[in-house]
Amino acid sequence: MTDLADLTLSEATSGLQGGEMTAVELLEAVHRRATMTEAQLHAYLNIDRPGAARAAVAADSALGKGAAVSKLTGIPVALKDNLVTRGLETTCSSKILAGYLPPYDATVVGRLREAGSVIVGKTNLDEFAMGSSTENSAYGTSRNPWNPERVPGGSSGGSAAAVAVGSALAALGSDTGGSIRQPASLCGIVGMKPTYGLVSRYGLIAFASSLDQIGPLTRTVTDSVTVLEALAGYDPADSTSHPGAVPDFRAGLERGVAGLRIGVVSELSGEGIDPQVQAAVARMVTSLEGEGAKVTEVSLPSFEYALSAYYLIAPAECSANLARFDGVRYGLRRDGDTVEEMMANTRAEGFGPEVTRRILLGTYALSAGYYDAFYGQAQRVRTLILNDFDSAYGQVDVLVSPTSPTTAFEVGARATDPLAMYMSDVCTIPSNLSGHPGISVPVGLDDAGLPIGFQVMAPALGEEVLFQVAAEVERIAGFSERPALANSRADI
Ligand code: GLN
Repeated sequence: MTDLADLTLSEATSGLQGGEMTAVELLEAVHRRATMTEAQLHAYLNIDRPGAARAAVAADSALGKGAAVSKLTGIPVALKDNLVTRGLETTCSSKILAGYLPPYDATVVGRLREAGSVIVGKTNLDEFAMGSSTENSAYGTSRNPWNPERVPGGSSGGSAAAVAVGSALAALGSDTGGSIRQPASLCGIVGMKPTYGLVSRYGLIAFASSLDQIGPLTRTVTDSVTVLEALAGYDPADSTSHPGAVPDFRAGLERGVAGLRIGVVSELSGEGIDPQVQAAVARMVTSLEGEGAKVTEVSLPSFEYALSAYYLIAPAECSANLARFDGVRYGLRRDGDTVEEMMANTRAEGFGPEVTRRILLGTYALSAGYYDAFYGQAQRVRTLILNDFDSAYGQVDVLVSPTSPTTAFEVGARATDPLAMYMSDVCTIPSNLSGHPGISVPVGLDDAGLPIGFQVMAPALGEEVLFQVAAEVERIAGFSERPALANSRADI
């Protein structure tokens, strides 16, 4: 018999609405899976059993009454712990926020609750979402369910590990430079970053406000659509929220790729990409061509400078955003003889080394006399990248590349080398700088049995064609392998 924790979100929706199971049973299966795997994975910082149990009972009552329900009613969803949840501790994996109980729900959390989903708990991340492995968490590293010696990616590594192993059917993450797509790639699931502004950031604890976007991590492309449908749409509480129409995410799912123009990004192939990742991406491109897509290689020369520009813009914005953690308003406080000393003591103890490094870099890049040479220059590079994208999208409908240059690396392998860690996001960062959508779809395993992700990118509000191509990639790949840890059975 199938363990309910192994169902995809769509399968669970049909099961719940067809009366084959209850939301309480589904939640119990997910809890059993968490019990069997958490000691090894540490995907969660906090599992909210009482809150989830109440939501599951409410979902069952709505389902039983034949009331209007949504595809998410009764579905167990995990939240990255940089999304504020009313009355439920939210730490951003930082000591500085230990014990912080937010007085409100993020807009996306409210939308999930209204849709009837069951919030399982809060997942681990790199502190304030700064990192690519979850090793920067103040509360311990999450592990990759395919091989616990390896990282799950980051910063939404806990969310990705939970979905991959079945301790949630879907999860939310945030993506500033790749933090949804890269861990999805390393954990063998689907991770999607929407167009900037499509999903409200209200209640997402800000890292770099001009880059941050919230998006879904799921096992399938259709499930990604289902979650995004619940999240997307204008929110007056976020001044950067897109006021226009939301694209039709579902319209292209069955359409195939015949006649579509697909561009392979030259700057994201070859050098620096692991040969097995490169080969898997090339095979997928050939198959897409076989399905009728017109494939060309496209050069976006400014991509070469994307990583450098990102590592000025993101720290600059983070240094401003994190100024609010001053020991007065939230979480940790360490006293001193003066207010300045109290703030210095609090921040020195509360922030980990990577966050400290970013605040220092960002403050420097914004300081008088250097602003133009660093921050201003990076913003000009951002414009060049946008121009490159614009001219590429004059020739092709979507762009494709690997999601991550390598598969999951060993815990510790890049922990002491920030530059090596920063390279993890070389393929994903350009779409953050441009605000465009991107998705990672698993296409196979390397020789070590670790998942490989394929990235599809589209122009702003191009989610319809993005999901259209992603669905075809998923169909061709037929990736159905599950990590060994997902076979943990509670009844053994
Ligand atoms: N790894 C990148 C960084 O450390 C991206 C993080 C993210 O997308 N939140 O900044």
